Amino acid sequence: MLTKEAIVLAISGPSGVGKGTIIKAVREKLPDSYLSISCTSRPPRGEEENGRDYYFVSREEFETMIRDGAILEYDKFVEEYYGTPLGPLKDNLAKQKDIILDITVKGALSIKDKLPDAVTVFLVPPSLEVLEERLRERGTESEDKIKKRLAYAKDELEMAKTFDYIVCNNNLEQCIAKVEAIIQAERCSSQRQGKVVDCLLKE
Ligand code: 5GP
Repeated sequence: MLTKEAIVLAISGPSGVGKGTIIKAVREKLPDSYLSISCTSRPPRGEEENGRDYYFVSREEFETMIRDGAILEYDKFVEEYYGTPLGPLKDNLAKQKDIILDITVKGALSIKDKLPDAVTVFLVPPSLEVLEERLRERGTESEDKIKKRLAYAKDELEMAKTFDYIVCNNNLEQCIAKVEAIIQAERCSSQRQGKVVDCLLKE
């Protein structure tokens, strides 16, 4: 029988690529997983709720958390702070729960640096035009912020090849299936299943 070793899955990709939708679908297949709730200094958007979508904090509070070592990694994105709180991540790792992170490129690489077994997935849009359309259709950002997010998208794409996997979101269902396939493959990796072989050899 395969052993269950928790997977830390860091999902990145440009703003508007569909990370939120894909993560939601993946979590339905992994109901026992933990989705890291980040801290951010940006104000809530649309229907977002404090403690469910993010912990919304002031810049000063965020800087205090950094100083106190309460943040595992953080990044500045379009002039706002975003970071992964350390405590809940540690607790869920101790419980052997799969952990999913919705995270910037710099954040994902920092996670990989700190947790080398973490799996990094970069979601790419079918084209930059589609990305721009999706950001505009979302209607949650001002024109100025959309422009800044698109400029970041190009910088982030430059780093895509440093990720473990790249998945194109040109079809939502297929994209979700591919991310699920990555999880299954990682679950079966010899690195994670080595203990099974050790047990067999001891028989
Ligand atoms: P948004 O403002 O669209 O919710 O998020 C902006 C960016 O911040 C997205 O790329 C998202 O993945 C990223 N992000 C959200 N939480 C974190 C975090 O804890 N750490 C880092 N490094 N990035 C995050």
